[in-house]
Amino acid sequence: MILLLFGAPGSGKGTQSGLLVSRDGFVQISTGDLLRSAVTAGTSLGKDAKGFMDRGDLVPDRVVIGLVQELVREKIAHGFNRFIFDGFPRTLAQAHSLNEILNNLALQVDHAIFIDVDRAGLVKRLTGRRVCSSCSAVYHIENKPSAVVGLCDICGSNLVIRSDDREDVISSRLENYDATAHALKNYYGSFGKLVEVNGDKCVEEVYKSIVSSTGIVKG
Ligand code: AMP
Repeated sequence: MILLLFGAPGSGKGTQSGLLVSRDGFVQISTGDLLRSAVTAGTSLGKDAKGFMDRGDLVPDRVVIGLVQELVREKIAHGFNRFIFDGFPRTLAQAHSLNEILNNLALQVDHAIFIDVDRAGLVKRLTGRRVCSSCSAVYHIENKPSAVVGLCDICGSNLVIRSDDREDVISSRLENYDATAHALKNYYGSFGKLVEVNGDKCVEEVYKSIVSSTGIVKG
């Protein structure tokens, strides 16, 4: 089964993907995570991507598509067949390329899930987010604080603010989302693949809506 998870920055895509991975046997393909790893590792791709990410702009399609193609092929070769794409595609060109990549592997998108959230709460969610500098676990200073302030519950490393969770960068990221979300909704809607869920509910409720509207059975 192939699921795409869409939503504005801070809508909970990463959290829901994590649940689908741990509970339902999906492999998560998060282009944001892939790009952040490349930046941290200092690869040439990471160096190219960093400026775009720091400004809250989209990284060029060819870079992101190449990353996704490589990872999907590798996972398929290892026998995985349940994927959740988190934060990809973000443009129609990426959507077309994803179709091509999947068609070549005799696969197709089953559902494109849009997590809709109230805009007012998003900035608060993003500015309060903290991530582990080592294992990337995600916290929130109010909604999901770590047991010891500033330290990860899982590995004890320092918690940091993502460089693109600054208020000025957040507004560009939200603008970028708005600029493409409508077209992507229409695109997947035209194939009858669109699923919309209310992301203002609690994490478990959102998860239940995703499971019931996509008919996921345990993998
Ligand atoms: P995310 O973690 O999904 O919010 O992504 C963080 C940043 O990575 C975005 O603001 C973009 O700069 C970049 N990025 C992630 N996914 C994509 C994508 N599919 N296309 C272009 N840029 C992306």
